[in-house]
Amino acid sequence: MKRVGVLALQGAVREHIHSIEACGAIAISVKWPKDLEELDALVLPGGESTTVRRLIDRYGLMEPLRKFANSGKPMFGTCAGLILLAREVAGHAAPHLGVMDVVVERNSFGRQVDSFEAELSVTGLEAPFNAVFIRAPHIVGVGPETKVLCEHDGKIVMAKSGQFLGCSFHPELTDDHRITSYFLDMIPSKTGTLLPN
Ligand code: GLN
Repeated sequence: MKRVGVLALQGAVREHIHSIEACGAIAISVKWPKDLEELDALVLPGGESTTVRRLIDRYGLMEPLRKFANSGKPMFGTCAGLILLAREVAGHAAPHLGVMDVVVERNSFGRQVDSFEAELSVTGLEAPFNAVFIRAPHIVGVGPETKVLCEHDGKIVMAKSGQFLGCSFHPELTDDHRITSYFLDMIPSKTGTLLPN
């Protein structure tokens, strides 16, 4: 079975764990560097990116997370998690992990609209996805290898760049697990492990 970690420092951790389990994979809370061992993939949940970053530093997770990214394993950042992955955060001198080839802008949908829902058409999903946005960022720039998977109101809200998947909204907050399942499909299958030598 696929083993998927969820960075469990702050934010929508339980909801991601529920969604991963609903897709038939094993979900593992990640708080310490050793928790990253033996994972096939990792989710960085939404919350508040500045707070999560502070906790990442406090728990000594920055280098282990960069190492995890360098290992090529899939990583999925939702909302604040996308901000943590981005190679650049508009208006900020330095990125956080800086591993995904996108530029993000925080709190992009106006102060008065702190949260809203929208029916999104996502590349790879047959029917629309009802997405929850909470003080959401959006993607303002993408690299040549980055695939835009969804736009809302002319703004990029979901993209994939190699092993990295990111979205502005919270796919884990509804009972629709198609985006979690899309992410789990990015994990290479361990073919041949059950075959006799
Ligand atoms: N606005 C938050 C930030 O900048 C993200 C919000 C969220 O994750 N729902 O970190």
